[in-house]
Amino acid sequence: MTTTILRISTVALVLAGFAAAQDHKLGYDTTPYYPGSKWRVHDSSRPRPGAVTPSTCNASSSKTPSDAEVLFDGHDLSKWVSLKNGVAGEPGWKLVEGKPGDGIMEVIPGKGDIYTKASFGDMQLHVEWASPSEVKGDSQNRGNSGIKISGLYEIQVLDSFDNLTYADGQAGAIYGQYPPLVNASCKPGEWQAYDIIFEAPKFQGTTVVKPAYATVIHNGIVVQNHEQILGTTKNANVGVYEPHPDKPIMLQNHNTPVRYRLVWVRRLQARPE
Ligand code: MG
Repeated sequence: MTTTILRISTVALVLAGFAAAQDHKLGYDTTPYYPGSKWRVHDSSRPRPGAVTPSTCNASSSKTPSDAEVLFDGHDLSKWVSLKNGVAGEPGWKLVEGKPGDGIMEVIPGKGDIYTKASFGDMQLHVEWASPSEVKGDSQNRGNSGIKISGLYEIQVLDSFDNLTYADGQAGAIYGQYPPLVNASCKPGEWQAYDIIFEAPKFQGTTVVKPAYATVIHNGIVVQNHEQILGTTKNANVGVYEPHPDKPIMLQNHNTPVRYRLVWVRRLQARPE
């Protein structure tokens, strides 16, 4: 009898664990709230934005404005480094040659994130990316990467085409804080673009004088409209601001072979008085 009860208990525990793991694909109901928000971080009941079909999926790579700093245009990874214990090294991602000047870089699982050598504050950032055409995994395990501005504030990159996950974790989300206004995702393998306008936070000592703001245009569609970033973006937790100078942009390695083909940035200056 005791053995039977133990077996039933074990099965129940395994099933409960499986259910919990399954639930986390669609969100959480135990994570904290950001102050003033009615939603938990990755709240499973937060409404998921509806899909909009963009008109620019798989378009040719865009041209680069004359005053942009080109961070990647298919030639090389010379503007990027890996960081291991704070020490810069060669980026571990793969350069895939296309036509001259039209190559791509691909995340190599296990080879770490990559960071720009330069640091940036207020900026306009253009990034072209594609999730793998072969669909593997689901929720956060499908085509996950990310653009972490200052290495701290993530605009989520994810294959969000017909892929259910928590609303604040899908493509175009300010991760863990704001779902995109709509789901403007292209199909897996198709080229997509983000245009991000980022206002860097300002600090005086340990005080936040001005929080960061982000506007995100995904495939020509506004998905974040001058949203106030609430602090560093965290997995399943709230982030807070920690004073920092201008810092590099990070592209996230989430162990799926997401590709990038064009990254440029324009530093935004204040209008002269
Ligand atoms: Mg990510």
